[in-house]
Amino acid sequence: METNRRVFQVDRRDICYLRYTLESYDGMAVVRTIDPHAALIEVSIAPGCESIAEPLFEDLKKREGLRMEEATGQRRKEAALKKTYYIATMGCQMNEYDSEFLGQRLMEYGYRPVDDPERADIVVINTCTVREKADQKAMSLLGRLSRIKTRKNPGMILGVAGCLAQKEGQRLFHRFPQLDLVVGPRELSEIQGILDAVLLQKRRMIATRLDLPPLNASKIHQLQGKQVCAYVSIMEGCDNFCTYCIVPYVRGREISRPPRDIMEEVRLLIDQGVKEITLLGQNVNSYSWQDPDGSFDFPSLLQMLSEVDGLVRLRFTTSHPKDLSDDLIRCFKDIEILCPHIHLPFQAGSNEVLERMKRGYSREHYLELVYKLREAVPHIAITSDVMVGFPGESPKDFEQTLDLMEKIRFDALFSFKYSDREGTVAFHMGGKISEGEKSRRLNRLQTLQKEITLQKNKALEGKAVSVLVEGVSKKGGQWMGHTDTNKIVNFSFDKGKIGDIVNVLIKTAFINSLRAV
Ligand code: SF4
Repeated sequence: METNRRVFQVDRRDICYLRYTLESYDGMAVVRTIDPHAALIEVSIAPGCESIAEPLFEDLKKREGLRMEEATGQRRKEAALKKTYYIATMGCQMNEYDSEFLGQRLMEYGYRPVDDPERADIVVINTCTVREKADQKAMSLLGRLSRIKTRKNPGMILGVAGCLAQKEGQRLFHRFPQLDLVVGPRELSEIQGILDAVLLQKRRMIATRLDLPPLNASKIHQLQGKQVCAYVSIMEGCDNFCTYCIVPYVRGREISRPPRDIMEEVRLLIDQGVKEITLLGQNVNSYSWQDPDGSFDFPSLLQMLSEVDGLVRLRFTTSHPKDLSDDLIRCFKDIEILCPHIHLPFQAGSNEVLERMKRGYSREHYLELVYKLREAVPHIAITSDVMVGFPGESPKDFEQTLDLMEKIRFDALFSFKYSDREGTVAFHMGGKISEGEKSRRLNRLQTLQKEITLQKNKALEGKAVSVLVEGVSKKGGQWMGHTDTNKIVNFSFDKGKIGDIVNVLIKTAFINSLRAV
């Protein structure tokens, strides 16, 4: 018996909900988004399951009021004819945001997303270069896609975007002859013009200017399904030039977006059902905007956004300790929807190392900031980034890093080994630590942090917490959401529906998540 494929015209905001509902009936149906822009989905009903599927369709239409119209032949043909794109995203939240923006521009250009690069007409890898490992991952994926292009899809337009594209530029064309375009993070808004040159003039294009304004998605940030959390970039670039960091060289100088554009984008997302916004920037604390209508620093931007109707939760990342002002700390107390969690990278616990990193603060200053944050909001969650093996880091320096961790007891820590980045000041420093020693230090550090994180999560057992229902958990069969302190919680479906803030009781704590009833 054949699989019965039906194509429906639905409302875009319901695509994911329909996928979750129809695919939660074991093996009954598989849902594929044919064209998110035109909101066309294909439901493949397993043989013999029609008798379950039909009444379910009727129920979704009648009881839940969802739009599910059988799509006509013409509309189906149009959609099927559309060219397709595939974006692979690596690295940080900023890259995820940039990939959403790129996807939007490609859809405006008449393309639709597919989830298999072999079937795509345009394939773009949005890359990261923060550490050597990120470069290797990007290069190996580029190699694999180049082979797919050569062997299976010669018509594919292959492109690389993001920080590695910005850093390597022309060199990538030499290394990968199949590559058609290299686009830096600030040039993504120019992608349609760049594609015109590639497609119509058959030219290989490189676009890596860093003097362009930040991407402006205030009118185009359309979500590809039911999402209750979204990112909004508020600024691009960084002026800090920490000696180990490549970001200022690949993301350019700090430039903030106009508050009205940010406000417009937030409203556009809330209209699509978003409840929680995370503001993004390499160093959001130094957000600054001035025009005849007034001047804005980061605390005043937070205050303005907190008054947007429908916004339930507000978060931001990443903060630099040297720009964490008393005004910003006060926001955690005064702004009700600002979630009590801050990601505040400390990087090292020794003043000598912090000095050579050019971080611009001392361990004493960092401790004082944490003290002020906890004085303002005692249950605030503090997470951070730390690096081991910075050039010249002595065993005593490393012990000071562990000591600072024991004093502060972070909720979670992202920890890395120092990685040489050509073009940075630290690249030329002496006193490099061996890979073996770096691994030993990282091991010790991660063991300590795991103990602390588990103890802090265990302290929540038996406590009630409020959670935003975000979607189905990775393992399936239950909801997943985050507490306002940014801890992952899994709990049963009967607690509410996507987008609700629900109160649950923590039953069991693990290192990376909590289970609730
Ligand atoms: S603050 Fe320092 S570590 Fe962070 S992006 Fe800027 S230069 Fe890099």
